[in-house]
Amino acid sequence: MKITFLGAAQTVTGSCFILETDHVRFAVDCGMHQGNAEIEKRNWDASLYDPKHLDFILITHAHIDHSGLLPKMAQEGFAGPIYTTPPTRDLLEIMLLDSAHIQEMEAEWRNKKKRRHGKKQEAPLYSEKDAEAAHRLVRAAPTDKAFEPAPGIQVTMRDAGHILGSAMLEIEYRENGQPTKLVFSGDIGRPNQLLMADPTVIKEADYLFMESTYGNRDHKNEASSREELAAAIRYSYNAGEKVIIPAFAVERTQEVLYSLHLLEREGKLPADMPVYLDSPMAIRATEVFSRYPKYLDKETRTLMDAGENPLELKNLRPTLATAESQAINSAAGPAIVISASGMANAGRIKHHLRHNLWRQGASVVFTGFQAMGTPGRRIVDGAKTIRLFGEEVSVAAKIWTIGGFSAHAGQSQLLEWLSNFTSKDMRVILVHGESSAQTVLAQRIREKFSFDVHAPAYREELILEPGRVMTPVVDEEKAAPRIDWNYLLADSQRILEELKARAVETENRPWVDQTDMRDRLMEINRAMVELISEL
Ligand SMILES: [Zn+2]
Repeated sequence: MKITFLGAAQTVTGSCFILETDHVRFAVDCGMHQGNAEIEKRNWDASLYDPKHLDFILITHAHIDHSGLLPKMAQEGFAGPIYTTPPTRDLLEIMLLDSAHIQEMEAEWRNKKKRRHGKKQEAPLYSEKDAEAAHRLVRAAPTDKAFEPAPGIQVTMRDAGHILGSAMLEIEYRENGQPTKLVFSGDIGRPNQLLMADPTVIKEADYLFMESTYGNRDHKNEASSREELAAAIRYSYNAGEKVIIPAFAVERTQEVLYSLHLLEREGKLPADMPVYLDSPMAIRATEVFSRYPKYLDKETRTLMDAGENPLELKNLRPTLATAESQAINSAAGPAIVISASGMANAGRIKHHLRHNLWRQGASVVFTGFQAMGTPGRRIVDGAKTIRLFGEEVSVAAKIWTIGGFSAHAGQSQLLEWLSNFTSKDMRVILVHGESSAQTVLAQRIREKFSFDVHAPAYREELILEPGRVMTPVVDEEKAAPRIDWNYLLADSQRILEELKARAVETENRPWVDQTDMRDRLMEINRAMVELISEL
């Protein structure tokens, strides 16, 4: 089996792995690349995916960074089945259409500018028609029951506990008569998350493709995240300003609603503070949640059985129409605005940030991971101004980052999930994480479990042989020039020895400034350590 990493390779977006044998070629996830312009260019390179020659696609969950290129595949000739869980199928319908709508609007915005400059018009990445075509290919697959999308390939979907309908994939097949099992973790949910059950324990795999978003840290103050939300509400309510919450439409929004529901019950949500749910997609996604109680955790089902709707609030105002959304910004007084997207790189949230980011007393509450290159990441990293709609907006609002809402497992939780595997010599391949997170997690995994760990790069190809033998595919044309390591390192060693001899001599020459020498040597040390960690 050959695997090609077309995304989520040392990054967190664009999840897509192409798997192929002599007789079948399929993809696990088909996500959109998000972040800066350089990364987003990858969305246009459909030929890499060769969609006409894909037999089927498996989708782990509805998040756009795992599913957002499906319309592009349909546009470029993919016509096979797309398998996923029933809730994901319903969520995809909403999310793909919304994504297509954003693509069309952004192309129109760019075209307007181009028309003014007499430049050629461009087509959107894909249209609503492409999204509809893609959604027609989606088939619901059962959970916890193997199915065979192609002869000899067995797939079982397990609850990943990340968002509604999210799945981990177990893929089993035989090669040269030998069985092999691949496990794709998808995004791994945070245990004890509101609404979702804990991620399924899996015990065996030959090759494990594991997400590593929070590979280098644990979530801070999980228990107190609701208290922090209450503090943000108090802060802005007292100042007569708004609390802006960028939130992914699926899962994060519902979790925030659930938390607000609990705060309301505790008397910590002022009665005269309206809560706007300003995202048509989030409004529709919330409806899907109520349709699939079976996929929610036990606590939530008990609450629902008792007649309480955890996603309901007395002050909740869903705003579907654009005019209603715009009216929020002309209404004075304190309010809570939940809007998408969660990383503030698209959607209505950008308008709310433009109207509130510069206001003293306002709050912006980040509840999820902010990818490199997004406005959300820049704000969280402490930027003094942010560029929105071609205008520099200064940051005067109070910025809150509440980690406890994450739908991803933190470092210890990832290691805890991994500790359930009993397969010896399992190969662990880290995906869906930035390099800094992967380096730390890989180190922890090697220390704790002595598994072999690898973090592939974008477009890297590997052959997964039976018996857990993994070999890289080296394309001579793409290979970087080779250097003579032996010579270079021997030379460096000679220089170090010379340096040592000179340094010893300075002991007898008190006028030589040793602090300067120490600083420069430390600089060399640092460079060498950095080089080691990069290799
Ligand atoms: Zn996700």
